[in-house]
Amino acid sequence: AKYVYDFTEGNRNLKDLLGGKGANLAEMMNLGLPVPPGFTITTEACRHYLTEGALPDGLEREVAEHLDALEAQMGRRLGQADDPLLVSVRSGAKFSMPGMMETVLNIGLNDESVHGLAKQAGGNDRFAWDSYRRLIQMFGKTVLGLDGDLFEHALDELKGRRQDTDLDAGELQGLVETYKGIVRAQTGKDFPADPREQMRLAVMAVFDSWNAPRAILYRRQERIPADLGTAVNIVAMVFGNVGNDSGTGVAFTRDPGSGQQGIYGDYLQNAQGEDVVAGIRNTIPLQELERIDKRSYDELLQIMETLENHYRDLCDIEFTIERGKLWMLQTRVGKRTAAAAFRIATQLVDQGLITLDEAVTRVTGDQLAQLMFPRFDGGAEKKKIAKGMNASPGAAVGKVVFSSERAVELAGRGEDVILVRRETNPDDLAGMIAARGILTSRGGKTSHAAVVARGMGKTCVCGAEELEVSTSERRFTTPGGEVVSEGDVISIDGSTGEVYLGEVPVVDSAVVEYFEGSRPDDDLVRAVDRILGHADSARRLLVRANADTPEDAARARRFGAQGIGLCRTEHMFLGERRQLVEDLVLADGEEERQAALDALEPLQKSDFIGIFKAMGGDPVTIRLIDPPLHEFLPDLVDLSVKVATSPDVTDKDRRLLAAVKRLHEANPMLGLRGVRLGLVIPGLFAMQVRAIAQAAAEVPGARPEIMIPLVAAVQELESVREEASRILAETGVEALIGTMIEVPRAALTAAQIAEAAQFFSFGTNDLTQMTWGFSRDDVEAAFFSRYLELGIFGVSPFETLDRDGVGRLIRIAVEEGRAARPDLHVGICGEHGGDPDSVHFCHEVGLDYVSCSPFRIPVARLEAGRAAL
Ligand code: ADP
Ligand code: MG
Ligand code: MG
Repeated sequence: AKYVYDFTEGNRNLKDLLGGKGANLAEMMNLGLPVPPGFTITTEACRHYLTEGALPDGLEREVAEHLDALEAQMGRRLGQADDPLLVSVRSGAKFSMPGMMETVLNIGLNDESVHGLAKQAGGNDRFAWDSYRRLIQMFGKTVLGLDGDLFEHALDELKGRRQDTDLDAGELQGLVETYKGIVRAQTGKDFPADPREQMRLAVMAVFDSWNAPRAILYRRQERIPADLGTAVNIVAMVFGNVGNDSGTGVAFTRDPGSGQQGIYGDYLQNAQGEDVVAGIRNTIPLQELERIDKRSYDELLQIMETLENHYRDLCDIEFTIERGKLWMLQTRVGKRTAAAAFRIATQLVDQGLITLDEAVTRVTGDQLAQLMFPRFDGGAEKKKIAKGMNASPGAAVGKVVFSSERAVELAGRGEDVILVRRETNPDDLAGMIAARGILTSRGGKTSHAAVVARGMGKTCVCGAEELEVSTSERRFTTPGGEVVSEGDVISIDGSTGEVYLGEVPVVDSAVVEYFEGSRPDDDLVRAVDRILGHADSARRLLVRANADTPEDAARARRFGAQGIGLCRTEHMFLGERRQLVEDLVLADGEEERQAALDALEPLQKSDFIGIFKAMGGDPVTIRLIDPPLHEFLPDLVDLSVKVATSPDVTDKDRRLLAAVKRLHEANPMLGLRGVRLGLVIPGLFAMQVRAIAQAAAEVPGARPEIMIPLVAAVQELESVREEASRILAETGVEALIGTMIEVPRAALTAAQIAEAAQFFSFGTNDLTQMTWGFSRDDVEAAFFSRYLELGIFGVSPFETLDRDGVGRLIRIAVEEGRAARPDLHVGICGEHGGDPDSVHFCHEVGLDYVSCSPFRIPVARLEAGRAAL
């Protein structure tokens, strides 16, 4: 195999092999942009190293050949004493994992070549020693695995109140000695002086960083497969830390927060690498570069335009200026907020860069869902205590915490927390995941906190500089003098950057208002309307709602539902009607039972009338009663206590207790429920069917579909179907009769079941539960986190449909059901109906519709469109 690619050999389509960074560096090289030369070691080499524990055969030879070529091209050898070539060794996986893995700069420096580097820079000793101390610091932390604080503290002590740029050559030389001492003391060995040895160790450290805990956590959060591995990029160094005519920066071709066109970025003079995002010194807005170095600035703008037109999307970039010469160090299609994603997609259509079809694929259901999150009530009284940058939108309320550990701890107890830090670093990831929102007092829109929060869709306000954050004292102070301590509640608005004391009430977002029928004049709403409209015209799947009440049904329709896929009838037995259910259970003989049913029937009929009216002429799939009866009766313990201790126990209480005991089941979810109830309690299903039929007869255009739950065998369905058809015929109402497929046996005998069913609806909550043998009410808390850790699944099968297992049952049932009855209508009504990946699966297997909760309907519409494109 070929394990090493020169930048001139790669291109952006080779992300699997070269990682995103390597593929895009090659692409920029091909575009003729100023990229320092270098080469990429493939992800395949990394996978080999991680699984076999050793570098693949031939890799070292191949790397040496490429390094020789690089040296020849640059006219200097790696670490050459009098005129050194230096390189960076950079991680870069297929999917961007900002800051999660490692990179080492300035490889090739040692006690001799540091002088050569100074000479190269015209006798600039300060720059050379600064580069050398950075190497030892990064190498010590990353490759040797030392605690980064050891170096940080030594630097802080030396700096005192000064900035790092105030240190002179002598002081930096002294710092190098201190750092070397730290390495010796901690590892018992000297810092490795041999440049090729430095490089070799750094490459392996980058490979290893694929499995750093924070990288693992990030992948799980972002659902990135654990076995991809990272590529390693070896890049000739260019230097932003030579002096004030040099510097380093990051930029976006559009605002990643709002999507607005313009110039967005941060720049730092006399700095290297991570300095910009790490909040070491305060950065300046990119626009100010125009004043500092107009030529580089103009070239940068030109390049940004080239990149946008080439990638036809928002790009983010890293660049460095070395003594007035601009170098591109990275680009990629940039992460953006949900709102920016919709705005940018439509802007690009207007610019003629992409088609509407493409625009639909450029946004996701998850992003649309984020736009439906509530926002703070503009009219509410609130106490503003600070304003920072609107780094990642949303309205978050929670208790203030100052450490990642504390955030995880409180969130684990079900509390909402806001993680407040001066700045975040990759080790804060767990806390950022646990928190509702993130607030920092330093750093810009490109800071670690901002980038990671945007990627996760988490609310973030960054760079609220007026706040004095003291992590050690667990509090922050405002310019107004308020002290906010751990546990105090604040509200942060990631769309405006505002921070409020206390809890601010929330209201519907503009996008929800739009779905509700008002047409706010808002460019985001227009973008959503346009993209969703196009998705609707492209999709093949219909979208229905899970709705049990006229209110839910009406909302679902406003949100675009084309029918109800699941109307549960449980609530029609609750409230004041419990009394009637008790009478039914306690009925002594045919007559009493029928009397209880007769009393329920008109009540349910009026429920159905409400729902049919709300749905106009759209189909309504009604599921007959499903849960075990004991759910409608008093709790066994409560009732026992009452009967044992209360002075006014009635005879009915005693009979009820006996009935509750009789109905008690060890595994109620596998007990007397669904169709089994219908078969065991005469007249129960008939009452419901009659109520449906009579209601339908009174609402012109009503289209009921009667759905029998928990069927496992065609015989169960057959007897219910016969009775229901008879009742329908009596009332002269037409309705489809079908079944849920939620027991594995039903899926496996779909051909038989289809003989008696006009439609199937996959109840994937139960189907998942029964296929895995997981009690869904218990397992998530009990052991799912361990299963996720072990990689048994990447996401809970209750959240995203398990294609291999549950999905296979669905495929079988669709195929065999349709073979037996070609016009069989097939849908899904489990939670999965509103989950993006599951919607794509439903499209692939050819279902007719998905059904989901009213709020997920826009998401399902969009994803169904994306699946079809
Ligand atoms: P990450 O993936 O965490 O962004 P990078 O590999 O991009 O890590 O590198 C970290 C920092 O070092 C970035 O700011 C990058 O621009 C800078 N850098 C990387 N390689 C070089 C190089 N050859 N010359 C100058 N700066 C570099
Ligand atoms: Mg980078
Ligand atoms: Mg069920």
